[in-house]
Amino acid sequence: MRSITSFDLQYAHRFYGFKGEAQYLHGHTGVLTIEVEDTINEGVNMVYPCNEIQKVAWDVLKNFDHALVLRADDPLLPAVLDVYEKQGIKNGHPQNTMKGAAFKTELATAYPDCRLVVTKETMTVEGMIKIVYDLLKDKLNIVKLTFTSGVNAATAEFPSRQSIDRCPLCGIALNADGVCPKCGYRKKA
Ligand SMILES: [Zn+2]
Ligand SMILES: [Zn+2]
Repeated sequence: MRSITSFDLQYAHRFYGFKGEAQYLHGHTGVLTIEVEDTINEGVNMVYPCNEIQKVAWDVLKNFDHALVLRADDPLLPAVLDVYEKQGIKNGHPQNTMKGAAFKTELATAYPDCRLVVTKETMTVEGMIKIVYDLLKDKLNIVKLTFTSGVNAATAEFPSRQSIDRCPLCGIALNADGVCPKCGYRKKA
């Protein structure tokens, strides 16, 4: 069975080199839906608690919220960084607190201090799905991702990779030592 959860991401981007309105900088509220598959965890009668999926995902995806997403070769990138630098906000600001953990993958690099994500490919809804799967595939057994942004929507299904050991008391993934990071339950050897 699947546990399904959605959340909003507000971001600005543009399609550099695209022949249409989207080549101009603009913003969206994107909705990302994550579907996690596994057996029903007998203890909690859930696949995976949705609020916990949100926590795991949000830790990384916060980087896209109230952020600017630009392709690495977009000339706006050095221009924006130059302005942030001159303004003294490029390397952070005391009021910039809702930051995710910085990440760098083949497809995207997050700079939480200046709320910027630099992508290898244009950040279309399809591009976002590739980036998100890459970031979360080892943390959650994701079998489907859907991302909608304005009139655009994309969805992709992924093979179920493996059953994750979950706490029978709160349903979240046990750590490498077989201990629940939330309640301290220890898996019997
Ligand atoms: Zn757009
Ligand atoms: Zn637990």
